[in-house]
Amino acid sequence: MGIGNHIVRVKKGMEIFHAGDQADCAYIVEEGRVALHASHSDESRVATLGKGELFGEMGVINSEARTVSAIAETDVVLLIIDSEQITSRLQKSDPIIRSIMDLLLRRIRNMLNNNFHKDLVNDNQNVVVTEGMHKIRFEKELFQALDDDKIINVYQPIVCLDGNYIAGFEALSRWQHPVKGMVSPFEFITLAEESDFIIPMGLKIFDSACKELRSLQKIRQQNQPELPHLFMSINVSAAQLMAPGFLMAIKDIANKYSVDPQYIKIEITESQVVDYEKISSWIDDCRSFGFKLSLDDFGTGYSGFLHLLELDFHTIKIDQAFVKSMRENAKSIVMLEVIVDMAKRLEMSVVAEGIENQTNLNDLKNIGVDYGQGYYLFKPMSVKELLLIL
Ligand code: C2E
Ligand code: CA
Ligand code: CA
Repeated sequence: MGIGNHIVRVKKGMEIFHAGDQADCAYIVEEGRVALHASHSDESRVATLGKGELFGEMGVINSEARTVSAIAETDVVLLIIDSEQITSRLQKSDPIIRSIMDLLLRRIRNMLNNNFHKDLVNDNQNVVVTEGMHKIRFEKELFQALDDDKIINVYQPIVCLDGNYIAGFEALSRWQHPVKGMVSPFEFITLAEESDFIIPMGLKIFDSACKELRSLQKIRQQNQPELPHLFMSINVSAAQLMAPGFLMAIKDIANKYSVDPQYIKIEITESQVVDYEKISSWIDDCRSFGFKLSLDDFGTGYSGFLHLLELDFHTIKIDQAFVKSMRENAKSIVMLEVIVDMAKRLEMSVVAEGIENQTNLNDLKNIGVDYGQGYYLFKPMSVKELLLIL
């Protein structure tokens, strides 16, 4: 076998690898033909491969011994594919896809050669499969939960710091799970984002939030007509924004409940803004429909200022980590003063989230932050609970 620069030349009749060898690379046939055999007899030929075809990948994918032998049927030239080229990509892929692939490999291996069956069941492999399957099951339960109206919203009041009144709410979703109790959106939103499921789910969340806003606005109008109309902030993921028809769908929902879009603030997380061109045109369309836009979690990444430069938001939402740091580091207060000054000049409002004590609240008021949100003011609550405080 001649080796040079990831190319191997193998003479006709020679073995490239043998069943039972540990797999350390895969190959692409550049020239000639390769035969794969499950055992030494010619009847056990599994496949004949020609130019451009990949082989030897199975052992690499799940770090196992070769199930078949590969023999050069003619003089061949092979390109070596390092195992890391495959495994590094696999590690980054969806665990469900990994798990399904693993399962398929096991079935193929079983079919090819029962002698190797014992080797197939090792602990490590089982863990991967269980994780993936657990996720599939969880995802399936999530689909069902949406149908059964078990994905609900709670609402956290957002307070006007100057006037000391509830100015609006943030809709925060919850999954009422029959066994796990209330599941945090951190768990299931990410799961829904991995598939297109976030799109129907997001629309349902949007629908409930608009419906509730309409009735809360009516109550506010009756009880305190001198105060401005209440607004509703709704979190939206990048996958939702990019889905065709999403904007029209939310416009129709607002219409359905006779909610003026100017009272809906769409919250987009700082880290989700990646494709400026796409998001910028989406934001323009969104503004033309009258919706308000809020840059969520400002101050957590390094790109917040760039986003403000490139994109037209109405509101900056200061992340709770930043608000928390005010308690520990006096420099944060100076930085916040600069952010508030900048926002005022750019005619944007500022919301600070994660207010957990009176000192925080006083500091933010003194700096001139417009709105506050946090456990010290109000926790997220059901509509029933909201009715008691409005
Ligand atoms: P977020 O948009 O940054 O929402 C604020 C989170 O901070 C909420 O957590 C809220 O309950 C929590 N929080 C509020 N005040 C305080 C406080 O004083 N201290 C502390 N430590 N936390 C406070 P939650 O409800 O668990 O939501 C987590 C994240 O899940 C949200 O972060 C948002 O990114 C996402 N999320 C929630 N609902 C939805 C949704 O309907 N759609 C999408 N796409 N994402 C959602
Ligand atoms: Ca948010
Ligand atoms: Ca946030």
